[in-house]
Amino acid sequence: MNWFERKILGFFVKTNGVFSKLFFSGKGIIFMLHRVLPEEEREQFTLNKDLAISPEKLEEFIFLFKTKGYTFVSLDDLQAWLEKKKKIKQKFICLTFDDGYRDNLIYGLPILEKHAVPATLYVTNCFPNGTGILWWYLFEEHAKKTHQFILKSSIGSYEFHWKNEEEAHVQFGRISESIKAIPTPEIESVLVEAFGKTSSEFKQLCNSLSLSWEEIITLSKHPLITIGAHTMQHVSVKQQSIDVVQNEMITSKKELEHYIGKEVKHFAYPFGGTFDVGEKDLEIAQKVGFKTSTLNQVGNIFESNHKSMHALARMPLGNSTDDQRMNYYLNGIYHFSTNGFKKNR
Ligand SMILES: [Zn+2]
Repeated sequence: MNWFERKILGFFVKTNGVFSKLFFSGKGIIFMLHRVLPEEEREQFTLNKDLAISPEKLEEFIFLFKTKGYTFVSLDDLQAWLEKKKKIKQKFICLTFDDGYRDNLIYGLPILEKHAVPATLYVTNCFPNGTGILWWYLFEEHAKKTHQFILKSSIGSYEFHWKNEEEAHVQFGRISESIKAIPTPEIESVLVEAFGKTSSEFKQLCNSLSLSWEEIITLSKHPLITIGAHTMQHVSVKQQSIDVVQNEMITSKKELEHYIGKEVKHFAYPFGGTFDVGEKDLEIAQKVGFKTSTLNQVGNIFESNHKSMHALARMPLGNSTDDQRMNYYLNGIYHFSTNGFKKNR
């Protein structure tokens, strides 16, 4: 952010978002969520606590958006609006849930149904296939018992140490980056060694937290639910070759379509940050036939985003999203503070 943008930002904040709203709140917001868990279950986690929203909080946000006059749209509606095939009168909110956790069905769907709110579930195929390694939960357990973690792979050997929870949190981010860089075929054996767990223990954890294919099929038939793709193995695509990315996208799309018997039009880049998604990946997503692709990079949605259908911004939503943050989301201050004048990636 340059000097001029900082001055403007100061003005936007000082005037309580009245002016930023005119120019930077766009037509709406796509929100990114993962799990939905009752507060007592959320409380059991430290490192992964913010991966889940409580059902009460989700409902509270839905009320808030309705009170403020927002309408809820599906990704199909959003796509049609961006392609100028459909009009949306009010400002909109679009909810998306990543990865394919079973709690979306147990705790999320009843709330969506109660308020007739549509949502997209981006499924990572390794979740229902039982091959996903949910190392972030294994690490949470690991960090409670010991104070070091050793990762040995063909790209190098790394040691992580921490003394307390706060330091564990910092290392958690670093470990995540290191794991992302490990070549996909090696990941399982590297993590088997690092955690001292067996492949079948990995599978057990995956099956206990993930939606099954049967549940995904049921959800796909629900009028409020859209199933989207999120790759086979949850890979950070920027670091992968064109062939690998193409294969991850095509195979996940085809397998989902095979199970649900419908076209899968929407895609979310795993991790979705600036270091996870490159220009080539946006092109591949379009080429393999997705109609929209979303990032994990903050921003509001504008009419001009029809030029960036494969790089749509999303805002994280969770229990830690406080009133001020929410105001900044809705009045465009958050968009401006991150993106400046830019409305497209
Ligand atoms: Zn994900």
